[in-house]
Amino acid sequence: MTQKTQTEIHSKAGVSQLKADIKAWAIELGFQDMGISDLDLSEAGDYLNQWVAKQYHGDMDYMHKHGSKRYTPEEMIPGTMSIISLRLDYMNTGLTPYREILEQSDKGAVSRYALGRDYHKVIRKKLKQLAQKIEQAIGAFGYRVFTDSAPVMEKAIAEKAGLGWIGKHSNLLNSKAGSYFFLGEIYTDLPLPPDEKATFHCGSCRKCLDACPTDAIVAPFQVDGRRCISYLTIENHGEIPLEFRKAMGNRIYGCDDCQMVCPWNKFTENTRVEDFAPRHDLDAPDLLVLFAWTEAEFLQKTEGSPIRRIGYLAWLRNIAVALGNAEGGKEVIDALQAKKGIVSNEMVIEHIDWALMQYQF
Ligand code: SF4
Repeated sequence: MTQKTQTEIHSKAGVSQLKADIKAWAIELGFQDMGISDLDLSEAGDYLNQWVAKQYHGDMDYMHKHGSKRYTPEEMIPGTMSIISLRLDYMNTGLTPYREILEQSDKGAVSRYALGRDYHKVIRKKLKQLAQKIEQAIGAFGYRVFTDSAPVMEKAIAEKAGLGWIGKHSNLLNSKAGSYFFLGEIYTDLPLPPDEKATFHCGSCRKCLDACPTDAIVAPFQVDGRRCISYLTIENHGEIPLEFRKAMGNRIYGCDDCQMVCPWNKFTENTRVEDFAPRHDLDAPDLLVLFAWTEAEFLQKTEGSPIRRIGYLAWLRNIAVALGNAEGGKEVIDALQAKKGIVSNEMVIEHIDWALMQYQF
């Protein structure tokens, strides 16, 4: 690449054209949207610090251990000039609706984002392909790709990049697509022109606050992670506090309730990513079938899935709670007692005992 070409690329017209090209390539690669954020995440940083000061992060120490790097992109990756933010829809709209699974106590409700292949792998591959496309067009440039994998404020970045607004449930919302999507980022040393920040469209709605089974959305934009079923079933490696077990119902991995009730999700479109198709009937699984999995089966059936990261013991713990909440009979009691005779982990046994107690009254 000659100096002249580099000069052209970095001119105002050059970076505008490059931004348009990047968007076109992103769509070709299967992303639904792309925008550019500048590096000023100070507002999001203030919010994060207040959230952590209230201890709402629970045991998620990674939310603050990187200090200001999380909201100062140029501190994390020196030389960063702009951030490319991308959206990838994941919902399979043809499945039995999550709402119906919640009403079937013999089934397990798995958050819809986790039914298929691990999104980290899918998105990372696409982000790298996009970076390579840019490289082919302009020559070597500085970049790092991220997807929920480093201290990156991806929702705040996406909001600044115009991809949507942060709703009262703290997820990103798009007025044409709802909220069932993943985000990915490319930090780059290219001075791409930033987009306008998205505007806010929750209005006076508070459906997500009212629907949360554990009252985790303590105020608009304020999610107490320690109460959130996603946190309790995924991030939390210890016991599930007694006060939340009944409210968990049959939610065995994550919770979609705040998104399920959001009016904007009527605009959800079917994903175009085959890798997000459900594996092993995880869209409507029988609790007893899942509970019967050995550790070897768990590892084999969750290979390449985000579920694998919680480990077998947390998996059994979550299902035990759901079985305690089921309207099951002898079959459920037998399965709980049988598993209790096999596992040696105290935490899992305590949850099985709790589940068995629910059948004594
Ligand atoms: S349910 Fe209502 S308040 Fe909550 S994110 Fe959706 S629009 Fe906003």
